[in-house]
Amino acid sequence: MMSSQELSFTANVDRQFLRAANLLDLPPGLAQQIRTCNATYTVRFPVRLRERIHVFTGYRSVHSDHISPVKGGIRYSLAVNQDEVEALAALMSYKCAVVDVPFGGSKGGLCINPNDYDDHEIEQITRRFAYELIKRDLIHPSQNVPAPDMGTSATEMAWIADEYQRLHPTEMDALACVTGKPVYKSGIAGRVEATGRGIQFALREFFREPLDVRRASLEGSLDGQRVIVQGLGNVGFHVTKFLSLEDGAKVIGVIERDGALTSDEGLDVVAVKDWIKTTGGVQGFPGATFVANGGSVLESDCDILIPAALEGVIHAQNAAQIKAKLIIEAANGPITAAADEVLRTRGVVVIPDLYANAGGVTVSYFEWVKNLSHIRFGRMERRAQEATQALMLTEMERLSAFVGSDKWAPTENFRTNYAKGADELELVRSGLDDTMRDALQAMRERWHEDEKVDDLRLSAYLIAIQKIALSYQSKSLG
Ligand code: NAD
Repeated sequence: MMSSQELSFTANVDRQFLRAANLLDLPPGLAQQIRTCNATYTVRFPVRLRERIHVFTGYRSVHSDHISPVKGGIRYSLAVNQDEVEALAALMSYKCAVVDVPFGGSKGGLCINPNDYDDHEIEQITRRFAYELIKRDLIHPSQNVPAPDMGTSATEMAWIADEYQRLHPTEMDALACVTGKPVYKSGIAGRVEATGRGIQFALREFFREPLDVRRASLEGSLDGQRVIVQGLGNVGFHVTKFLSLEDGAKVIGVIERDGALTSDEGLDVVAVKDWIKTTGGVQGFPGATFVANGGSVLESDCDILIPAALEGVIHAQNAAQIKAKLIIEAANGPITAAADEVLRTRGVVVIPDLYANAGGVTVSYFEWVKNLSHIRFGRMERRAQEATQALMLTEMERLSAFVGSDKWAPTENFRTNYAKGADELELVRSGLDDTMRDALQAMRERWHEDEKVDDLRLSAYLIAIQKIALSYQSKSLG
């Protein structure tokens, strides 16, 4: 965690915001309006558990409602506090702007260790928290739409959706009040993997540009890059699974709560994840070295470092020791503003949180659109697309018969892949890939062409602030 001399999470985000805003010629007062968190609601509510009343504290912050609804996850952790929720809400505003997702920024949190309660108790607590937010329209399909974050999953989102439906039984669009729901409860295929998948797409796009790869003192493709991840939760697990199984990257370090595992040969993250599920931690995983001081592995030699757990883990005290050449911020705020400066001077390339982990909100946007349109993506087009493609295959076969050579006939592999219409999962991945590519290309353009922009974070903030500023041009501020 960051040292006590460092800034709060909100102050860190503000500092990064101001570094960019000061380079823009914004109307007087606008930067302050964009930066300031509009409102934070704190609720303390009772739940009767284990024959006594327990009081819980929760928050929902609306950072900026320049676009409605506002969007942002709900986190369950003992570290949740107002400052953290406001910083995360601010990041949501900037993130949505960077990836062109039409939402303002919000975030929620409940100060709780979910491991202290059984499933039934978590359901009772979640439903009561949801009720407190719903009755103030802080959960609402057109005003404020939560999603999972650290410590929550599709299960909690299903309870929230159900609670909203119970309180609004005639509301047609009720299920659009929250995203990240299970597919059986009007969720969308590909949402669980979305943030990790988005990070994979971001890295693939990064490695498509040799100049950027050289700037990070790396070479080649993702194949063979040595990766260290902190946090093997939803985001960390999916991204390392995809990078290792699909792109040939080698996961040489996994840092978890109870310590870290290292292996020069590469770790099987699926097996490590199963081990954590069974034993509660990484210690004892066969065939790897266990390091009790897990945080020290952040400083180990690697090509790509993926902090995917907490904020403030790379700070002024350890930034100079970080040996990774490229850091992609899977978590929100894992690098403090002070550490960011140290890394920049040392030439470490950072792909920033407000872009890198935007896959979750992007696919949440698709889910929200699906809920409002009340139809699964691909349902109307898929078989029509297959019929058109079948026509093309028949024509190719006719032509190959006409020239009298099998060499011109479509191969079996082509036939199988080409003939298939896109289902929801493929469409979601395609939309996510498009989003991550476009956003990085826009950031890269500024990074390459504007001499004042020497890093991708500054570039992302400039883009976000300009887009939000534009939306204020047509807003009533009288
Ligand atoms: P999660 O709860 O699924 O996983 C977090 C993981 O980090 C767990 O495996 C946990 O054991 C581990 N962890 C906790 N404390 C740790 C410590 N001190 N050292 C090492 N590991 C530790 O959470 P998540 O949804 O994967 O979120 C992780 C980060 O990604 C958060 O910053 C979150 O805001 C961000 N994020 C998540 C999403 C999403 O869709 N879930 C989207 C955008 C950003």
